Amino acid sequence: MSFARHPDAVHVRAPGKINVYLGVGPRHDDGYHALATVFQAVSLYEDVYASASDDFSIAVVGDVDISGVPLDDRNLALRAAKLLAQTAGVTQGVHLDIRKGVPVAGGMGGGSADAAAALVACDALWGTELGPRGLHELAARLGADVPFALHGGTAVGTGRGDVLTPALARGRFDWVLVLSDTGLSTPEVYGRLDKLRMHGEALADDPTELLEVPVAVLQALRAGDATELAPVMMNDLEAAAVVGRPDLELTLADGVRMGALTGIVSGSGPTTAFLCGGPEAARAVQDELKATGREALHVHGPVPGAQIIG
Ligand code: ATP
Repeated sequence: MSFARHPDAVHVRAPGKINVYLGVGPRHDDGYHALATVFQAVSLYEDVYASASDDFSIAVVGDVDISGVPLDDRNLALRAAKLLAQTAGVTQGVHLDIRKGVPVAGGMGGGSADAAAALVACDALWGTELGPRGLHELAARLGADVPFALHGGTAVGTGRGDVLTPALARGRFDWVLVLSDTGLSTPEVYGRLDKLRMHGEALADDPTELLEVPVAVLQALRAGDATELAPVMMNDLEAAAVVGRPDLELTLADGVRMGALTGIVSGSGPTTAFLCGGPEAARAVQDELKATGREALHVHGPVPGAQIIG
């Protein structure tokens, strides 16, 4: 599907993310969980085109199933545009055309990428010149994953995931993603983790007393060494994401059997991410997974955050 793009539209591309490491602390009173995570932006993108308009409107097409995407004020991109207009005192509107490449409700931060892209696109369209710091502040108000979609690359996220410290990552990491037909609600997965922990069914040392990213993860990223990274990857949400989803457990086992170094659920799932030894190994794993009827994509990271194209 396509849309007629306005010739003067500002085009911004923002990446989806994988949580290479996701440590989840106890639930706070405000409902949020403290996180110690490492994000990596990967080459699966959202394209946002912003064109001048009197009011605010949005149209969405996609390479992925877009039936779950709201087209009203619940849409994060539209909320981003309105928040920027309000903050900067802009009286114009905007029309946003979005082409989604990141699976919806897939645990890869697609909605957050749309919001980050909309901030950058509208900032350029309206000449608001809020600067990186101003945009970061608005991003954090829109959602915990939005600041990372602005920055991209590889970064450690603490707080709710919105306090970012860039992490050095040498070279490139090859990933195979397996998409799922049915999405998972992020709040529901966190709720399930709380219940599992209450009943002592989550991982043995859960929730970790010391909520920080292990040095071994940062070292492996710095060395650009996938074989070093694979054994130290971890996702505290995985147990909660796979409950009632035996298909995910089967996919995780199959990907590793087919040659991936390791596989994890991405964020709150249900996308699974397989780290491979290089591009060739990834293509082989992708082919084998596709041969079983699964939708498998080969992507790489790290890639830059939201940026203007052309
Ligand atoms: P998270 O960032 O919580 O990991 P996710 O990657 O699992 O989220 P998203 O695709 O970002 O999932 O969307 C989660 C929900 O947010 C969707 O089910 C949808 O209802 C809502 N939503 C709001 N805006 C958007 C958007 N622009 N694109 C997709 N979903 C959106």
